[in-house]
Amino acid sequence: MKLKKLSMGIGDRFGHQGKAQLAAFIQAQKQGVSITPVWNKSNREHTLIGTQPPSVRLEADQAVAALGWTGAYHVDADHINLKTVDGFIPCCDFFTLDVADYIGKTPDAAELAAFVKANERFVGKLEISGIDQTFTITHDTIEQIGRTFLFAVVETGKIYRRIESHKGKGHFIVEVSMDESERAQSPLEMLFILSAIAQQGIPAQTIAPKFTGRFNKGVDYVGDVAQFEKEFCADIAVIQYAVKTFGLPDTLKLSVHSGSDKFSIYAPINKALKTLNAGLHLKTAGTTWLEELIGLAEAGGEGLAIAKDIYAEALKKFDDMCAPYATVIDIDKSKLPKPETVKAWNGSEYAAALRHDPACKHFNPHFRQLLHVGFKVAAQMGRRYLDALQANEAVVAKHVTENILDRHIRRVFY
Ligand SMILES: [Zn+2]
Repeated sequence: MKLKKLSMGIGDRFGHQGKAQLAAFIQAQKQGVSITPVWNKSNREHTLIGTQPPSVRLEADQAVAALGWTGAYHVDADHINLKTVDGFIPCCDFFTLDVADYIGKTPDAAELAAFVKANERFVGKLEISGIDQTFTITHDTIEQIGRTFLFAVVETGKIYRRIESHKGKGHFIVEVSMDESERAQSPLEMLFILSAIAQQGIPAQTIAPKFTGRFNKGVDYVGDVAQFEKEFCADIAVIQYAVKTFGLPDTLKLSVHSGSDKFSIYAPINKALKTLNAGLHLKTAGTTWLEELIGLAEAGGEGLAIAKDIYAEALKKFDDMCAPYATVIDIDKSKLPKPETVKAWNGSEYAAALRHDPACKHFNPHFRQLLHVGFKVAAQMGRRYLDALQANEAVVAKHVTENILDRHIRRVFY
């Protein structure tokens, strides 16, 4: 099973926007840009909402059938590990093996020695086509990288083989993710990580490094855009080199996690994909739920009341809401509006604070990030929230489709 060159991770917390999301891909297709939709939902999101992995398969299959989508599509077990993978095996055909927690753990001494030996041929000067800099590699460079990453890659191999033993070789797509770690991985580190991935026999088709800068949930990139661009292009060059050198799948490409709304790096990404003839997997998902909130707020009445109640409750349970996402949010509590203030807002005021329009003076990234991670409150509302989604389906769907098509697909892939 091969992943197409351009793909995008989508998904929604409550499983109601399958068709609205797919509609964006259909429009892009009509305009000549073919992107594979991949519905993703992590074990973390399933646990917080109280859903099971098969619900995502059902949502994807139903949307595809309803809209007559004939292109490829996949269902991604996002950020799974050995403890959480089993429930996803029957219903998924894309697996994001998350090894961030294992980075920095001491590898087995014999395995480390074997890793160093296997990569000894790189000791000296290394030039990679597409990267200006010449790397100077010593035994120590390789050993240091092995000490940091080898344990994690060996662990990835265990998850991979567990899935392979059930689904069979070649029947699913593998992504390796390291994005939720403390520190960005350099292109050189990625080269040796890919070497280890190949040694473990993992046919990775996407790799999600942690890039330089902050990739906070649902808000713009924070960091040095020029530095990001340089690193992103170097990572692509490393991947192209690794495919040839280590025999990894020729479909291997970068995956950008927390990819929603990274407007300031979308133009450099778009340029890099074209000039380097590279593919990309862009993961977004959480912002669909924010479009639901925007739609409900604009609908007024009970929809707006629900949107306000969700904020008040998320604020009350601030620590609980934020804890699972500590590495991917930056909320300044002092910049959050008081619940009484929000209570007095009309629908457009609520939507303006939430909608990611950096040029709008009412936009509040802290408000947006808290609501981004606050979906658990809506889940706890149960029917009250779901009924409102149903009652306002048209307005919500319009926002969901426009968000994916205009803010993401057009900027990254056109
Ligand atoms: Zn991620």
